[in-house]
Amino acid sequence: MYHELPRAARFWSVLFAIDQDVAETARKNACPCGGRLHSANYLRKPRGTAALLPEHQRQRLSFCCDRDGCRKRLTPPSVRFLGRKVYLGVIVILVSAMRQGPSPRRVRELSAHFGADERTIARWQVFWREHFPQTHFWKIARASVIPLVEIVSLPYSLVDAFLGRHRRCRGWTLLLRFLSPITVPGGLQIKVSQ
Ligand SMILES: [Zn+2]
Repeated sequence: MYHELPRAARFWSVLFAIDQDVAETARKNACPCGGRLHSANYLRKPRGTAALLPEHQRQRLSFCCDRDGCRKRLTPPSVRFLGRKVYLGVIVILVSAMRQGPSPRRVRELSAHFGADERTIARWQVFWREHFPQTHFWKIARASVIPLVEIVSLPYSLVDAFLGRHRRCRGWTLLLRFLSPITVPGGLQIKVSQ
């Protein structure tokens, strides 16, 4: 089933390359003020296995505007980092999904492997079940997921929708790309109107 990640090293390189592409596009677009963007990456300290990744792959790619009076920071979407969580997005999704999936007994094993304790996983469950479905992103994006994903089984239903139709590496890449808009500041804002 889905409880294994694609072969580690290659998979992380693919994700890193996607982040580099997205970042390069953002850099070319420049700052809204017209200033040039300079690299101002910050080093994350992902827990678990990901802590063993080479240093450049643990960097969240980010920029700073070079114009005096602006100096705005711009952080493009990422397929590796989900918000401010210290765990890589793929792990947050995978471990949470396995909790609901057909092999819950694997969860203990997975948590041990990725270094997430019960409390952390419980917080992720709350995120997927209560917070995520209320976001503006999800209200718009859910229509583009075929088959229609059931909120009650998030994020397992999302994993199933993407990995059920693609080879593992491709499925994960597409899913992470799909979720990447929520990885930037404001991307997870809850819609309050209506
Ligand atoms: Zn600027």
